[in-house]
Amino acid sequence: MSEASEFRADTRAWLEENCPAGARGPGQVPWGSRKVQLEADAALWLERMAERGWTVPTWPKMYGGAELDRQLYPILIEELKRIRARTPLTGRGVNYIGPTILELGTDEQKARWLPPIARGDGGWAMGYSEPGAGSDLASLSTRAELDGDNYVINGRKTWTSDAMDCDYIFVLVRTDFDKPKHEGISLILVDMDQPGVQVHPIRLISGASPFNETLFEDAVAPATDIIGGVNNGWTVGKRLLQFERSTHAGINTSGSQGGRTAESRLPEQVKPYVEIQQTAAGQNIIADPDLRERLTRHEMDYTAQRLTQARVIEETQARAPGFASSAVKLSNALITQAADELLIEAMGTRGVGWQGDAFQDREIEATREWLRQKSLTIAGGTKEVQMNIIAKRVLGLPD
Ligand SMILES: Cc1cc2nc3c(=O)[nH]c(=O)nc-3n(C[C@H](O)[C@H](O)[C@H](O)COP(=O)(O)OP(=O)(O)OC[C@H]3O[C@@H](n4cnc5c(N)ncnc54)[C@H](O)[C@@H]3O)c2cc1C
Repeated sequence: MSEASEFRADTRAWLEENCPAGARGPGQVPWGSRKVQLEADAALWLERMAERGWTVPTWPKMYGGAELDRQLYPILIEELKRIRARTPLTGRGVNYIGPTILELGTDEQKARWLPPIARGDGGWAMGYSEPGAGSDLASLSTRAELDGDNYVINGRKTWTSDAMDCDYIFVLVRTDFDKPKHEGISLILVDMDQPGVQVHPIRLISGASPFNETLFEDAVAPATDIIGGVNNGWTVGKRLLQFERSTHAGINTSGSQGGRTAESRLPEQVKPYVEIQQTAAGQNIIADPDLRERLTRHEMDYTAQRLTQARVIEETQARAPGFASSAVKLSNALITQAADELLIEAMGTRGVGWQGDAFQDREIEATREWLRQKSLTIAGGTKEVQMNIIAKRVLGLPD
């Protein structure tokens, strides 16, 4: 038996035995937060997968991974999909800061931070955006000043997702005010459990508060927790963004989620809301020719997107792509938003329910997803910023 066949057989047997029923199909996915209570099966699944190195399958074993290569990694993903097993661990730890430390951290930093990240011990927030620095991120003004062995941090970050439940935050700070703005930035890891870090929820129109303002008032972080060297934060921060965009794009094999994009659910979702007619050949088709054509077009785009994801994963195994991550992130976001629009249009008045008994749960979910996923072309860098990157870095067009 070849190594691949043997791995598949062993993996299949192990997964059948060790993936609890409650970790299959939709449900809770841990992201490392110590403040979020885990369901029993999600906790057990995380523990078992971490033990095997399969929360971060491509990482070195010494840092909690399994060192799976380009041949074996896709087999694991296929076998997980086969039994509808959920990702055991997700979040900014395994997907953003972990791969960044693995690539750019010192040996000490890797030994200190990667094993707990691989076990899901600690949830991470992302401290990039500021009230005066979003797309123009290099204008950030949160400052970090050296005081003995520590940096003392002061400033204000905004839109910090999930910060209220996070244990750590990676922060872009200004460590040199005299240098040109891109050259005086560093990326530092900060423990959120200290009086100098204050989290203030931002209340959305929905009433929920997934975002926060995170204030740093004399917060302290060890100087040894600057990743990639002092004043190299622009390079390090941009690489981290590529890991983030690759995750959004479904192509980040450096973390936990590469290649996990599901089948399109759109045709099934649309069916209950549209008139179906039978063709002379006895085929059931959507009666409205315009909707039918647009749905077909969407399914083709969706299939092309999935094939592109698979190709990029194969080409870049264990190394999230560089600028191409912007292209796949953007197309993924646009295709997802187009599907939302089609569904809501097909649902008619059933697609505008926010709450209440007049609407089914799946209808309320569709409306909320349609609105929530508008953020896909803002979070992780806006649509226009991605297009600028594609124009300059992928297509090589002049500034
Ligand atoms: C769901 C979600 C989660 C987020 N989570 C986090 C988080 O955890 N941590 C964090 O730090 N940030 C987070 N953000 C913030 C996000 O990174 C910023 O919203 C984003 O980078 C845009 O910045 P901005 O909101 O300041 O918009 P602006 O930069 O003010 O942009 C406003 C508009 O101008 C356009 N624009 C700006 N510059 C250009 C240009 N050069 N060329 C063409 N058009 C341009 C933009 O495309 C946009 O349409 C999150 C955002 C969302 C929506």
